[in-house]
Amino acid sequence: MPLINEHFLKLSDNYLFADIAKKVNAYKVTHPKERVISLGIGDVTQPLCPAVIEAMHQAVNEMAHPDTFHGYGPEQGYDFLREAIVRNDFLQRGIHLDPGEIFINDGAKSDTGNIGELLRWDNSMAVTDPIYPVYIDANVMNGRAGECVNGRWSRVTYLSCNTANGFTPQIPKHRVDIIYLCYPNNPTGMVLTKEELRRWVNYAIHNDTLILFDAAYERYIQDPAIPHSIYEIRGARKVAIEFRSYSKTAGFTGVRCGYTVIPKELTVTNVNGERVALNPLWNRRQCTKFNGASYISQRAAAAIYTSEGAEQVQAVIDYYMGNAHLMLDKLKSTGLRVYGGENAPYLWVKTPGDTPSWRFFEQLLYSASVVCTPGVGFGPSGEGYVRLTAFGNRADCEEAVERILNVEF
Ligand SMILES: *Cc1c(COP(=O)(O)O)cnc(C)c1O
Repeated sequence: MPLINEHFLKLSDNYLFADIAKKVNAYKVTHPKERVISLGIGDVTQPLCPAVIEAMHQAVNEMAHPDTFHGYGPEQGYDFLREAIVRNDFLQRGIHLDPGEIFINDGAKSDTGNIGELLRWDNSMAVTDPIYPVYIDANVMNGRAGECVNGRWSRVTYLSCNTANGFTPQIPKHRVDIIYLCYPNNPTGMVLTKEELRRWVNYAIHNDTLILFDAAYERYIQDPAIPHSIYEIRGARKVAIEFRSYSKTAGFTGVRCGYTVIPKELTVTNVNGERVALNPLWNRRQCTKFNGASYISQRAAAAIYTSEGAEQVQAVIDYYMGNAHLMLDKLKSTGLRVYGGENAPYLWVKTPGDTPSWRFFEQLLYSASVVCTPGVGFGPSGEGYVRLTAFGNRADCEEAVERILNVEF
């Protein structure tokens, strides 16, 4: 008799964005004349840049001829892309990585979810709260999160980020085996300074903790003093894995390509206390369970590193950050307390008078026809906040904030 992995049964059926869609559809049915503007889901809206499109067309043409056709590629990714990453994303910041430390994937969600396979189920783990829900749900699936009691998983340490600590998580007083950090942060839009990130790396070195660092939004950083990679901190390559994605930085949400950095010096221990390197084990895992990202996607990603590609990608980031700044300025003028939006495409809005997230979501929907994401969907500390994204069209962002300005809270 096939038995289920019972950890899957602990997950709630409802996915946050499905709940939102249901409520938005109900509103649309009862208000057919209203034009709803969504500042909710974290997907980009602007098309791929011309250099990427060109590279994809070329790659398709190569696939059409026997001499240039590409079948299975290397499971770790093509050298042309791994080398471009090493040179452009790291060497230019003074970080020396080897292409063998880069694993190309089909996006960061897969690897941030799958990386836990390398680690025993009974490791302790911590997340900043609120957080991208994938980290916790993936750990629920392999039993590491424990049981859910009142919206909190029993074996997870939640590091609350709130107005009291300026959304900078406190370093835990006890040691944990694994910690997830995401900076610039989804959903709060906040960043860590070099000094703050250094404290985390030092904690990890002293406590033998593995840091899983998600840098999916690194290209949105405007302040030159903010680190883009955790490897800008000395010693980080012994304790941290970094996840990158082209989804938000180059509009690849539908193309699918990203990468994971696992430095060769990074080790964890076996039960005898001997150090074991994760890089060869992840390589072994990928060779068994992954057959590589498509040649076309990887050619598309490589085009981002050409001078035209880099310029065009930057123009789209500037466009989204223009939206963010406009929304931030206008919303602040209403007296709403708004965070983030300076080095990330997300605004984190405190609801007026501690209105619960879902209540405020409905207020915005019914009085402004604007869709946001209820903060509580990102964890218990998200209650009393909503997230707005800057990924819309300029005109929609402008109209949405104008409508919000007219609402009496
Ligand atoms: C969008 C996002 C990703 C990227 O996911 P992909 O699978 O690369 O599209 C990763 N981490 C966070 C925090 C995100 O918001």
